[in-house]
Amino acid sequence: MNQYIRIASSLFIMSLLVSSGCTSVGHPTSEFCPKHGNALQTRTAYKISQDVLADPTRSYIRVAKQYPMHTPWIYSEKLTDIHKDREKVSFCPRCDAELKNALRE
Ligand SMILES: [Zn+2]
Repeated sequence: MNQYIRIASSLFIMSLLVSSGCTSVGHPTSEFCPKHGNALQTRTAYKISQDVLADPTRSYIRVAKQYPMHTPWIYSEKLTDIHKDREKVSFCPRCDAELKNALRE
């Protein structure tokens, strides 16, 4: 009985996390990038499926925080074997471009 309650409450927390995640994406945005000051854009992207375990690369972790509004690594512009969940994502095009450049170095 105890164990059942534990499972149920962790499921509840999971669904809270998922639903709060959904409020930050999927809406047209009038937000601005704190780094570049330009308006954010919204596009369709494909998120890594929840049943896929994946981690960002070390270089991504090192440089990504300098680009606050880049498209998070869990998203791909294209549908792939692991990126299957279609969502709308807000992003700063300059953060995306500069992060891409930084990762190429
Ligand atoms: Zn930016």
